[in-house]
Amino acid sequence: MPTCPECGEEINDLIYTEKRSWSVTVSGQELYFKLTDKAKGYPPDGEYHCPKCGEVLFTKGSDAEEFLKKGIPGVVLKRLSEG
Ligand SMILES: [Zn+2]
Repeated sequence: MPTCPECGEEINDLIYTEKRSWSVTVSGQELYFKLTDKAKGYPPDGEYHCPKCGEVLFTKGSDAEEFLKKGIPGVVLKRLSEG
């Protein structure tokens, strides 16, 4: 099982969060949300966090995928996240 390089806990999942921008207007009695052009880009501006300590471990899906599949040692992860 992969080990978090920040807190040292074994983890088998990551928490993904992403920033999205919405245009909000009122339609009738309800709020109406519409994605703005800024939010339509791909990949989204996301971060992968450790579920135990909350630290950001990755910003690229490919790095997160490799971590979860293979459990890269913490030393290598530190170097990847700093680069
Ligand atoms: Zn952690």
